[in-house]
Amino acid sequence: MSEAIITNLKPLIGQSISELESFAESLGEKPFRGRQLFDWIYRQEVDEISNMTDLSKSLREKLNSVPIHPLKLVNRDESLSQQTRKVLFELADGNLVEAVLMQEGKRVTVCLSTQVGCALNCGFCATAKMGFIKNLTVGEIVDQFLHLQKISKEKITNVVFMGMGEPFLNYKNTIAAADFLHHPKGINMAAWRITISTAGVVPKIQQFSEEKHPYKLAISLNGTTQEQRLKTMPVSKTYSFSSLIKASKEYAYHSRNRITFEYVLMDGINNEPRDVDRLLQLLSSVECKLNVIPYNEIDGIYKRPSDEKIESFMNLLKLAPFPVTVRWSKGTDIDAGCGQLATKSAHK
Ligand code: SF4
Repeated sequence: MSEAIITNLKPLIGQSISELESFAESLGEKPFRGRQLFDWIYRQEVDEISNMTDLSKSLREKLNSVPIHPLKLVNRDESLSQQTRKVLFELADGNLVEAVLMQEGKRVTVCLSTQVGCALNCGFCATAKMGFIKNLTVGEIVDQFLHLQKISKEKITNVVFMGMGEPFLNYKNTIAAADFLHHPKGINMAAWRITISTAGVVPKIQQFSEEKHPYKLAISLNGTTQEQRLKTMPVSKTYSFSSLIKASKEYAYHSRNRITFEYVLMDGINNEPRDVDRLLQLLSSVECKLNVIPYNEIDGIYKRPSDEKIESFMNLLKLAPFPVTVRWSKGTDIDAGCGQLATKSAHK
C-alpha cells in the first residue's frame, strides 16, 4: 500500500471532480478514476467501494482504507404520520447535527443544516439555545443529503438549507454544497428545487444577488417593523429591517426567481391586522411569495396563535397581490418542525 493512501484521510464525500482526479493521481492512477469515483458517489449514490464495479481490483483495495462519509448516522426519529423523519448525525469531532426528511405526496423535501448551533440567537428558535459551535464543511452538508436519500423510499425532489445554523454565515460552503447537489454529472438536482434561507444577513444577500447563483432565496421576515423584528431577531441590530427590505427588493429585481418571505406567526407578537396591512404595503411591489408558518412552540416565552387567529390572519391576507401559503409544519411530535432542531435526541 502506498504512503499516499495512509496519509490522505479526507472523506471522499465533499471532494469535487478535480479533487478526486488529483486524489486518483496521488494513488498512481489515471485521473479518469477520480471521475469514476465522482459518478459512483454522487450520481449512482453508491457508498461501498466493493460495489464500484468498474474500478480495478487493485484500486478498490487501495480505497478500502479511505473514509467515504464525513458523517455517522446515530439516531432516527419518525413522526406518527410517518411523513417526517428527523436524523441525527455525528461529526468526526463528536459534534452533532440534525436534518429532516419530509414526504408530502410526490414531493420529498430535505431540510439540511449548515452549522452546528447558530450565533444569531433568534428568540423563537431551539437551535439558538446551543450558541454557535462551528461551520459544517461542504462534505458534511452534502453527506446529510446522501444519507437521507438512502433512507427515503422515494427520490428527494427538493432541498432547503433551513436546518440548524444560518447558511449565509457559512456562505462559501453552503454555495459549494448547493453546487454539488446541482452538478449535472452528480446528483443533478434542478436549481429551482434548491432553496437557501437566511435570517437576514444583508451583505450576503447582496453577494448572492451579485454572483447570480441560480438557487432560490428565502428570507425569514417574522416582523413588519424594525422594533417588532428586534424583539425576536437580534440580527436586526446589525442589519436593519429597512436594509433587509431594500436588499430583498434588489435581489427580486435582478433575479429570475421569485423570493420567498417566511413569516413565523407568534401570538401577540406579529399576528395583528396592522401586521397584515404592513405586509401588503411592504411586499406588494416585490416579485415574491409569502409563507406563513404558525409557530412551533419550544420551551420559551412565545406562543402559537389559536387556529381561529391563524385563520383570521390568513383571511386578511387574501387581499395580497402575491401568493400566500401557510405551512403546517410536519413532525412537531418529534421536534422536527421549523425552529425546533437542537440535537435533543442526543440527550435522550
Ligand atoms: S432561526 Fe435560523 S438563524 Fe435564527 S437562531 Fe435559529 S437557526 Fe439561527
